[in-house]
Amino acid sequence: MTPERYEKIRRVLSRRQPTLTVLMDEVNKPHNFSAVLRTCDAVGVLTAHAVPPKSGALPTFDATSGSAHKWVAVQKHPDAVVAVRDLQAQGVQVLATHLSQRSLDYREPDYTRPTCVLLGAEKWGVSDEAADAADANIVIPMFGMVQSLNVSVAAATILFEAQRQRLAAGMYAAPQLTPAELDRLAFEWAYP
Ligand code: SAM
Repeated sequence: MTPERYEKIRRVLSRRQPTLTVLMDEVNKPHNFSAVLRTCDAVGVLTAHAVPPKSGALPTFDATSGSAHKWVAVQKHPDAVVAVRDLQAQGVQVLATHLSQRSLDYREPDYTRPTCVLLGAEKWGVSDEAADAADANIVIPMFGMVQSLNVSVAAATILFEAQRQRLAAGMYAAPQLTPAELDRLAFEWAYP
């Protein structure tokens, strides 16, 4: 471990956003799962959440992740609605990416609040139950012939809006982790 590498680790951790996350509900293609994690790393998500597909295991990481899976922890949940309620109980607003009567443009919510973006499976999207349990439903407006985006593209679009708002609010300028958390994670990342 060179001093430069350790400095980089501390710099990255000083910009991590423990109050910004995603919940992937049965996203099952490894390249999508990996691409979402890569975006999470880029915007500073500390821990992502995922409900494994019915097969039981999380998709394996592939080259699409870069090495993002080493830097973004993934917490597993057995069920999306239970996960949504757990996050809400911790004070996190859950924004389901879902087209419904109450859907907002994805740029409307305040992403400086503790926020989780709920992403749906490639084939069937977010379930109505999980979308109903969420605090809001959001959509990226679509004006083409195809009805939806690839899930990793949608995740990137929304997470970079969150990054834009958080940058404007100064949330990357000072560490969001406590000094003790930052020290502990720096040690774990440096000596895995
Ligand atoms: N047939 C599915 C449906 O009706 O929801 C399509 C799922 S889409 C391929 C996979 C996921 O990408 C969605 O669950 C959502 O998380 C995200 N997504 C795709 N297009 C989106 C959009 N325009 N706005 C917000 N999220 C979108």
